Amino acid sequence: MAKKKENCIFCKIANGEISSNILYEDEDIIAFLDASPTTKGHALVVTKEHFDNVLYVPKDLIGKAFSVAQKIGQAEVSLFDAKGVNILTNAGEAAGQTVMHFHIHVIPRYDPNDGLQIGFTPKMIEKFDLPVLVNEIKKRI
Ligand code: 5GP
Ligand code: ZN
Repeated sequence: MAKKKENCIFCKIANGEISSNILYEDEDIIAFLDASPTTKGHALVVTKEHFDNVLYVPKDLIGKAFSVAQKIGQAEVSLFDAKGVNILTNAGEAAGQTVMHFHIHVIPRYDPNDGLQIGFTPKMIEKFDLPVLVNEIKKRI
């Protein structure tokens, strides 16, 4: 049985203590509709085992979870004739994570103004030595 965390809402959904609109389920992964959808079809793909966020999920499970997210994205885009889909995961409060159990959002997109706003405004004013930065990152991958 997958490891659970006390009082975690997605652990409770994963083991059936709280009901949800389930789209997919296997021994490791469960996917269900978001309770407060940003767009029609907004779904969440979750590992049944509790990991705080994407940074802690083992390699085999991360692959499985994204594969399910891709399948749901493909199904929803064709079913709803969506114009695109955002498949994303937030890690940490600073990144907008509110439920601290790893999950992938699958958000079909119908229009650029349909609810999800993601802006990549350049805000970096601090200058870095890029070759040093690249080396430091590469060493840790
Ligand atoms: P986050 O901000 O952590 O990336 O996203 C958490 C998501 O979980 C939100 O979109 C929120 O609507 C959804 N959510 C929170 N509680 C529940 C719940 O009890 N059931 C379902 N289906 N979704 C939930
Ligand atoms: Zn959990």
